[in-house]
Parts: sequence; structure tokens; C-alpha cells
Amino acid sequence: MALIVQKYGGTSVADAERVKFVAEHVAATKRAGNDVVIVVSAPAGMTNDLTNRAFQITDMPDSREMDMLLSTGEQISIALLAMALQAIGVKAVSFTGPQVCIRTDNAHQKARILDINANRIGREISQDKVVIVAGFQGISDIDEITTLGRGGSDTTAVAVAAAIGADICEIYTDVDGIYTCDPRMVPNASKLKKISYDEMLELASLGAKVLHPRSVEVAKLHDVKLCVRSSFNTHIGGTFVVKQEEIEQEYAVTGIACDKNVAKVSIIGVEDRPGIAAEIFGALADEKISVDMIIQSAMVDNMNDIAFTIHQSDLKQTQLILKGLKGTLKYDDLLFDDDVVKISVVGAGMVGTYGVAARMFTALRDANINLDLIGTSEIKISVIIKYDEDSLRRGMQALHDVFELDKID
Ligand code: ADP
Ligand code: ASP
Ligand code: MG
Repeated sequence: MALIVQKYGGTSVADAERVKFVAEHVAATKRAGNDVVIVVSAPAGMTNDLTNRAFQITDMPDSREMDMLLSTGEQISIALLAMALQAIGVKAVSFTGPQVCIRTDNAHQKARILDINANRIGREISQDKVVIVAGFQGISDIDEITTLGRGGSDTTAVAVAAAIGADICEIYTDVDGIYTCDPRMVPNASKLKKISYDEMLELASLGAKVLHPRSVEVAKLHDVKLCVRSSFNTHIGGTFVVKQEEIEQEYAVTGIACDKNVAKVSIIGVEDRPGIAAEIFGALADEKISVDMIIQSAMVDNMNDIAFTIHQSDLKQTQLILKGLKGTLKYDDLLFDDDVVKISVVGAGMVGTYGVAARMFTALRDANINLDLIGTSEIKISVIIKYDEDSLRRGMQALHDVFELDKID
């Protein structure tokens, strides 16, 4: 007998058939003698639909009201799943995030979970009920409903697992595990039996949406045993996310991810004097805009070009801020490009291996792909390229081939 948290994503609860199928699997887990807590997402497409509805009203929806709106999707799923379980004779009760005291900070639409009071969940479990919790949502210290950012239900599941001391947190989704690359992009991607928290955190942060980045961070912090598996074929084993020391063989590159939600900003012709970078990035930081890759060109005639990337959703605000700095920065021009994509390779074994960057750039050259920006850290190398679906797929496949990721297991 174990205490198990299972999370089901949007496609897993997309319609009545899927909800009933999930209920059967939950019932089987419960009848096998386990205590079960379920976290669910909104039905597939609903969060997008709700977002579109908001943008039909205004192109600058208020963040608080967006959270009020988006949190309703998950509330539909919890109630339907509770009904489906009750209909097959399993005691079940559903709760919103605020009802089980999922406390977050105040950052609407990208809130972080600060604390979960596990008392209510514990009480219901001790009455032999399956407890169903709405993913993606919480409540701030001033009692406002918040959401955790797209894909955030994974984080709810891991945080609940940590709070109740669950034996395992199983993330059920529409793929049967974590692959070396999104199998929809690279058809011969290999399924990994295990991946380290650090590698998975990088991949998730770089666009591999199979897990929400923060969920991996919380799992690592609280030592939550985390597994990704299929909600369609529940008999197939998934992928475990584990500590680095539990990985038997370390590869220079373990996975590839891409992120289309990137925009590139170029400031052309700024004076080469101390304090320029501090001025630009200080102004962006003041507005909580995070900057990713930064490149400054070699100085010509005492002038520099500075280019960097941001999240696409910060583009409008960045434009306004930089236009406002025209008087002090005295740049020649500003260029904005949201038609770019970031491709990254990740591997813990990169640290002790030479030539990874060279192989990456050679493979992209051979695929006739031009690199716009390059960025590296200890266990990843990222490039920004001009986006078109064909180049992106060719680039991902070329990298997958050059690092022979189809042979990893
Ligand atoms: P859910 O709605 O269950 O949360 P998501 O759509 O958020 O599901 O995440 C699952 C999707 O993540 C898969 O359908 C797959 O296309 C994508 N994905 C991206 N990178 C990977 C990867 N490395 N391994 C597996 N799936 C990946
Ligand atoms: N429903 C939210 C989304 O679509 C949260 C989630 O599914 O994890 O992003
Ligand atoms: Mg998801």
C-alpha cells in the first residue's frame, strides 16, 4: 500500500470518454489498496479557448481577471472526475486549489506555490476517499485566485506530493514517457528510462513542455519520486526523473528542445561607454522582464550593437521601455523579431566532453541553417534561428542524428 499522487493533463480528460477511462484507472489504483490523490488539468483546449475569449474583449486583459477566468477550466475537470468515480462506486471528493490552501505569491498568471496545508487532504484520505485537486491554481496571501503559468498543473501535483509525503507522483499524459526530443518533431526520438532532475529542468525550461519547469525544481528540492507515463496505455512503464547519481550512463547530449515563444531584440548603434548595459537591462529588470541570451557585437567607431532574447509575451512592454530610453541611449535603431525559435541541446556529460558545440554547429551548417545568436551554460548549448517549421524540424533532426540520440536508452 502506498500514497500515490496522479496527475492527468488536458488530453487525458478531454471528454466524457476520457474522464471515464481515467476514473477506471484511478479506481484500480485505489482498489489495489493505495491512498490516491488526483490532480487534473482543464479539458484539452479549454485554457486556450478561455484566453481567446478574453482577447476578444480586450487586447490587454487584467492579470487578476485572467486568473479568475482561466482557473475555471480545472474546476470543470475535478467535478466531472469526482462524478465519474462516484458512478463506479469509488468515494471521491473534489477541491479547488484555494479549498486545500495552496498558497502562492501574488504574481498573477505566473504565481509560485509557497505552501500547502495538507490537513484537509489528509482528513479526506483518512475517510477512504479519493481526493481530486484542481491543478494550476492557488490563492495569494490577500485571498486572490492565482494561476501558475501554462502547464502549471504538473507543479501542483508535485507540490501536493511533497506536502503530503507521497511515495510517488505520476504524471499521466499523451506520450508514454520523456523522450530525447519531442516525438512529434523527431519521429525516431528514444524514450528514456531515467533522466536526471537537472537535465529535465533544463529541457523543460528550454521548451520541452512534457513537464512544467517548476515541477521539476520542486521535485528535486523535496526529493519527490517523479514519473511520466501514458494515460492512454496505462500498462506501459514511463520515465523516472531521478538524481544524477542514479543515472548509470552519462551522455554529452541527452535531449533536444525547442522554444517558439522567443523574441529577439536588437539595439543598433549604441555608444561604447560604461553603464550602457546596466541601463538597458536595469530598465527591463525593473519591469520584471527576464532576458535570456545577450550578445554585444565588436565595437566599430566607438559604437556597439546589442542583441538579446526575451519571452514573446514581454515584447510589447520591451518595445515601450526601449523607446523610452532613446533620449539617454541615443541608439541608431531598434529591431524586433518574433519570428525566431530557440533550439537547445542538453546533457550533463557536456561538462567533461570537448567538441559538442563544434558538432552541433557543423550539423546545423550541413542542414543549411543559419545561426542568429548562440548561448551556452554548463549543461546546455542554445541557438536562435529564423523560424519556419521546415528549418526547425530539419535542425532538430540533424542534431538528433549527429548526437546519435536514437541509440540512447
Ligand atoms: P498534458 O496536457 O498532459 O500536460 P502537454 O501537452 O503539456 O501534456 O505535454 C505533453 C507533450 O509534450 C507531448 O504530447 C509532446 O508533444 C511534448 N513534448 C515535448 N518535448 C517532449 C519530450 N522530450 N518527451 C516527451 N514529450 C515531449
Ligand atoms: N490548463 C492549464 C494549461 O493549459 C494548466 C495545465 O494544463 O497544466 O496551461
Ligand atoms: Mg502539460
